[in-house]
Amino acid sequence: MGNVKTDFKTVIFSDFDGTITEEETFSLLMKEFAPEASARMVPRLLSGEISLREGVPAVLETIPSALFPAMEERMRRARLREGFEPFLDTLSRRGIPLVVLSGSLELLVMATLAPYRDRILRVVSADVDLSGEFLRVTSPHADRDELVYKPGVLEEYGKAKKIVIGDSVTDFSMARAGDLVFARSILARKLDEESRKYVKFETFFDISNFLESFL
Ligand SMILES: [Mg+2]
Repeated sequence: MGNVKTDFKTVIFSDFDGTITEEETFSLLMKEFAPEASARMVPRLLSGEISLREGVPAVLETIPSALFPAMEERMRRARLREGFEPFLDTLSRRGIPLVVLSGSLELLVMATLAPYRDRILRVVSADVDLSGEFLRVTSPHADRDELVYKPGVLEEYGKAKKIVIGDSVTDFSMARAGDLVFARSILARKLDEESRKYVKFETFFDISNFLESFL
């Protein structure tokens, strides 16, 4: 951690699961590696009875640390949404840094993004301690009901123009804090309901094309 450079003109903040990846890798992993805890907790999470901040660690901490390498291996094979690498090229050319925000675990996100690490400014996610028999989750960016409170990270970048990319309810609060929003799936529907402006996307080519034309 330590001090992070935050004085940029423009910063892109992107969600990871269902945004950079095609699938919801984190919930698939929880179902595969913690089937009983997931079956018990997911309905309570969806009904809002418990928060992500409580529920996600409760599921993860039933997983033996010895299984973590297998989880990372799954993540190394996760499919990325089309156009991600050319999108990184666009950002490099334009000097726009990318911050990836995820309510998953940093080591899992990094297992997928390792080939692109030098082109990503920062990954903000929860941490895992593997020294005990079971996973232990900590999150320096937990706030409110969220394991990773995304708008809090956007605030660190002060006056920078903030471009947000996301797909889900957990991206809604950061979308409200963004100057320009790219949305798909549930996030797009939620922004429609609130009559908020956004640009619809399905692939990263859509986003690159928009940035090349309008930025
Ligand atoms: Mg997502």
